[in-house]
Amino acid sequence: MTAMNEEQLKICARWINESRKGVVFTGAGISTESGIPDFRSPGGLWERFDPSELSFQNFQSSPRSRRLYWEFYRENWRLSKDVKPNRAHLAVADLEKRGKLIAVITQNIDGLHQAAGNTAEKVFELHGNMWEVRCLSCNALYPWEEIFNDLEKGKEVEKCGHCGGLLKPATVSFGQSLPVQTLRDAQEYCKICDLLICIGSSLVVYPAAGLPELAKSSGARLVIINRENTPVDRVADLVIRGEAGKVMSKILRLLDAENG
Ligand SMILES: [Zn+2]
Repeated sequence: MTAMNEEQLKICARWINESRKGVVFTGAGISTESGIPDFRSPGGLWERFDPSELSFQNFQSSPRSRRLYWEFYRENWRLSKDVKPNRAHLAVADLEKRGKLIAVITQNIDGLHQAAGNTAEKVFELHGNMWEVRCLSCNALYPWEEIFNDLEKGKEVEKCGHCGGLLKPATVSFGQSLPVQTLRDAQEYCKICDLLICIGSSLVVYPAAGLPELAKSSGARLVIINRENTPVDRVADLVIRGEAGKVMSKILRLLDAENG
């Protein structure tokens, strides 16, 4: 277990207090406490499904790959549908309620920031959202529950009722580019924020990993909260080693103490 320095937590709380335009950036580490399955861990879905077979190109070109992809999503939905936001998500939602956040940028597809109470319009999901199913041609939105129920009954997923296009969960697959506007918005918020707190991201996957450096070079304070080292630690103003939930709930208590 990593020891957490009380002084570091106090500095972070003080910077949040001083901040007017804070941004939070999150990765998988904020959702582990909620029990969101890690595909890479032993027994994870990547032991049963080959990610390269589930590429966007295969999805578009091969009915067999599409069936495999939907089988994968059926499992993914089964494992994640009862998952709830944890104390780290709730702390981030609390920061927005306190008027401290202008945006939440996330690499996660689980929708737990919105479930915790963050305003949907302020949440920028770089890899999409697993609870949205959209038509690849006309972008029409379909309720995931109906498709999940059909899959559970062994039915095939139908084509778009409006245009006949292919339906797909609105997440970024291998070989599929990040949503351009979402990435642009995220970059804009990183340029104008005065404090960026990165929580539970290893900060290795570009272009997301470039966002902290962008905020830092635009004059923001940069805080990194993660269990392991990240390549961006060297430019951060503050690095806190620890579990997202534990760290964030302690910081919130310190905030209350400072303001009480
Ligand atoms: Zn359509």
